[in-house]
Amino acid sequence: MAVSAVNRRVVRERAQFRCEYCHADEHWQFIRFTIDHVLPQSAGGSDDGDNLAFACRNCNERRGNRSEGRGPDTAQVVPLFNPRQEPWVDHFVWDAAGVRIVGRTPTGRATIMLLDVNDDRHDGAVLRVRQRDVFDGYHPPPEDPILSS
Ligand SMILES: [Zn+2]
Repeated sequence: MAVSAVNRRVVRERAQFRCEYCHADEHWQFIRFTIDHVLPQSAGGSDDGDNLAFACRNCNERRGNRSEGRGPDTAQVVPLFNPRQEPWVDHFVWDAAGVRIVGRTPTGRATIMLLDVNDDRHDGAVLRVRQRDVFDGYHPPPEDPILSS
């Protein structure tokens, strides 16, 4: 089964057009975002709205079909962030510059590492775009917490 057009629209609007993992705003991207299955289809995850999240291509492709990961500071395997079950702010905060996502919990740190939301293992394009968006006043989302410097 595929996600219906109606479900796509509902998921997209529920997320306020932001990637539910890295909080990138689809409005300022060239490439349309995707519908992510929180519990992967390969593990029996459904196409119902309560199993779907709005995700940028980076986050969706880097997560693949995984639901667990390991943070940088521990050997412990923990569940990845589940946007249908927990608020983003429970696990993440922006650094003082508003450019890097900082993990507040083992789940947050494992998700940051696996999805590479700060582009540490890629080319850093994400950080350049965020810096520009901070400069232009489009980022971070106004309700997101930011570490004080
Ligand atoms: Zn993302």
